[in-house]
Amino acid sequence: TDRTALGPLVGAIDQGTSSSRFLVFNAKTAELLSHHQVEISQKFPKEGWVEQDPKEILNSVFECVEKTCEKLKQLNINISNIKAIGVTNQRETTVVWDKTTGEPLYNAIVWLDLRTQSTVERLLNRIPGKNKAFSKFKTGLPLSTYFSAVKLRWLLDNVEEIKKAVDDGRAMFGTIDSWLIWSLTGGKNGGIHCTDVTNASRTMLFNIHSLEWDPELCQFFEIPMEILPKVRSSSEIYGLMKSGALTGVPISGCLGDQSAALVGQMCFQDGQAKNTYGTGCFLLCNTGQKSVFSEHGLITTIAYKLGRDKPVCYALEGSVAIAGAVVRWLRDNLGIAKSSQEVEKLAAEVGTSYGVYFVPAFSGLYAPYWEPSARGIICGLTQFTNKKHIAFAALEAVCFQTREILDAMNKDCGIPLSQLQVDGGMTNNKILMQLQADILCIPVVKPSMPETTALGAAMAAGAAEGVGVWSLNPGDWTAVTSERFEPQLNPEESEFRYARWKKAVLKSMGWETA
Ligand code: ADP
Repeated sequence: TDRTALGPLVGAIDQGTSSSRFLVFNAKTAELLSHHQVEISQKFPKEGWVEQDPKEILNSVFECVEKTCEKLKQLNINISNIKAIGVTNQRETTVVWDKTTGEPLYNAIVWLDLRTQSTVERLLNRIPGKNKAFSKFKTGLPLSTYFSAVKLRWLLDNVEEIKKAVDDGRAMFGTIDSWLIWSLTGGKNGGIHCTDVTNASRTMLFNIHSLEWDPELCQFFEIPMEILPKVRSSSEIYGLMKSGALTGVPISGCLGDQSAALVGQMCFQDGQAKNTYGTGCFLLCNTGQKSVFSEHGLITTIAYKLGRDKPVCYALEGSVAIAGAVVRWLRDNLGIAKSSQEVEKLAAEVGTSYGVYFVPAFSGLYAPYWEPSARGIICGLTQFTNKKHIAFAALEAVCFQTREILDAMNKDCGIPLSQLQVDGGMTNNKILMQLQADILCIPVVKPSMPETTALGAAMAAGAAEGVGVWSLNPGDWTAVTSERFEPQLNPEESEFRYARWKKAVLKSMGWETA
């Protein structure tokens, strides 16, 4: 069939922790037409360190764009119909590069890296009462190893090349969105150095009310402000693609992955929430134009700002560092399965952890504890325990962590969520989804198009001023649910297991101090 008359299309670059993807959507129907995915290698050079090669990330994105365009041509779809490109990315991951050569000056320090634990301790000593929440009302965030400012501080302290480049005025800092947009719009030959408000809100250098870099915080972290990107809205034309099959197409959307998923799930109303299960797990609840500050260990973040003149919307967020990563760990480090799907099979064969609890605090614990000293534990082992129980306990851990976040969210918001909208790679696991409904005691709902992160970025790009091919009016769209998981476990059993989980969490804390 001739599909050249499809109308406008929009592409989305989805650069995640485990892989990069490029996806092309029909702007009128939101139908996914084609995509390509490349896995990203992770380096663990020392205990607790997690790095990625920024060049590998960039090349994987180029490869995904080119391969997707080839696939579209094979489908008889004219790639000149692609009117805009959106970028969505793993957040907080920190890159510093040389603007004269276009080369990264060090590997990217990945968001769940723990090397900055001592940097955090040192900074805490300079804060009255060692108050982790010292910038809560400005940034929405606690001082932690997680956010970009401490990673950048570490790079400035430890990498001679970066110190020199800063002194010479050659250094540029960016999260993955900035690195990609700068490189794709020309790099050393006039690339655009920018980020969007959602990504900026994860650095701990950004005032989420004034929407500007904060000079006081930059001074506190001793970050030279001239290396920071310009902060823009999440939906506007930043620049044009300078090479490859899509040369000349505007890049006009940019959102951190969790914000993009919120947009892709159409959570535009106050009180609407989604949980994304990828490498980590992130529950975000839209709080509208009002920033809400948690009393229960959640963070306040920017949800989106869909246009230069559009209002900024905020979200309460519960971040869990390790979700899909624990499955990958069972596969790669213990070798108990050859694939993520096989872990699901093992868990399904037993249908219970048989009293085993697995707290995967590999990167400390994030929300609601924010405890970098925690380390992973597996407890409740007996002679009877086998790898299937451990696989089950690993999946159950993801569900318990989500329960902790949901409880905190319900307390902060006042109105309990009546169902949970989910997405992300791990939602392919049906055992996990059923278990999640059982442990939350509310239904879990999956949309029919699982690529909601990419969809959100495409929506932002397609709706940008000067592009205007995508409607953001929720009335123009009908949400299609593909699967719904109802709680089946009796609530007492669910509560008993959750109480045991909390006991296990206490045991994981304070294990390792900086
Ligand atoms: P990210 O956006 O963080 O790169 P994805 O959304 O692509 O992550 O999800 C990938 C993660 O999901 C991996 O950590 C993988 O182990 C996990 N995963 C994928 N399929 C399954 C499955 N069937 N069961 C359990 N985990 C899975």
